[in-house]
Amino acid sequence: MSQLDAQWFAEVSDMWPGRALAINCRKKLVDCQTPYQHIELYETTDCGKMLVLDDVIQFTEDDEFAYQEMLAHLPLFSHPDPRNILVIGGGDGGVLREVARHDSVEHIDLCEIDAKVVEVCRQYVPSMACGFDDPRVAVTIGDGFQFIRDHRNCYDVIIVDSSDPIGPGEKLFGDEFYALMKEAIKPDGIIATQGESFFMHWQVVRDLMQVVRRHYRYSTYCYMMVPTYPGGTLGVCLGSQQRDVTVPCRRPSPELQAQLRYYTPEIHRAAQILPAFGERVVYEGGGGYNRNASGN
Ligand code: SAM
Repeated sequence: MSQLDAQWFAEVSDMWPGRALAINCRKKLVDCQTPYQHIELYETTDCGKMLVLDDVIQFTEDDEFAYQEMLAHLPLFSHPDPRNILVIGGGDGGVLREVARHDSVEHIDLCEIDAKVVEVCRQYVPSMACGFDDPRVAVTIGDGFQFIRDHRNCYDVIIVDSSDPIGPGEKLFGDEFYALMKEAIKPDGIIATQGESFFMHWQVVRDLMQVVRRHYRYSTYCYMMVPTYPGGTLGVCLGSQQRDVTVPCRRPSPELQAQLRYYTPEIHRAAQILPAFGERVVYEGGGGYNRNASGN
């Protein structure tokens, strides 16, 4: 169980046994249980606000930009003219903030299962929840797994910004959901999903990329450095039937690039260069980095 002990929040989880990131906190601003998860929001001493769902850190304001920019801009700059976008999860508004930077975008649907996450982030984390203020955004409170069923051939880009494959996010990592996304995306559309860490969750990444490859002709895995996440990295799985998602087909304007702190066209390519064990995990279904890891 995670605890606020002597002002330190320790992110203890059996998803990363035997280790925990600790963040020094000044005070706890929110602590509530919803039908979906336990929500905590902290004011930290050095990392801004921090959202925790079921004891797992979702973001700190300090380095959330790395994840939000890569999850949004990798698919959007891989598409020549993205107009209709779907975000599943993303209740903090961070991905919305990044999607809204693209002038070609005409409409953004967001489906978040827990209204309380939106409410808390709107109240305490305006640096991210500002994404909800864009007039192109339409928010649905509901299960993304159901929402996707009701949409066919709709979206140029679908972004899945979900929590981990535990609790409400679990079914967003399965083959059935990816098959439904394939129906909801346009034939030349692009999907981008929260792709965990090939260091800490190599089995999840291995299985996820096998699902993406099953459904899409083009696929790749990009990772980014985010000190707040376990092992300091997280990843994005990209897939498309018709578009080569490994190279950007557009680049940020100089004005937009000046606003970005992580994404560049160069890192779009470089983020796909994995260490040897990462290649085996992502492309060969192999084991992780631990010398005792087996491939099964
Ligand atoms: N950046 C975080 C990460 O990488 O883990 C994710 C942040 S965002 C807060 C995750 C959101 O996914 C949460 O607000 C959670 O309520 C939402 N979520 C989880 N399962 C969902 C589902 N089945 N449908 C819609 N939203 C879901």
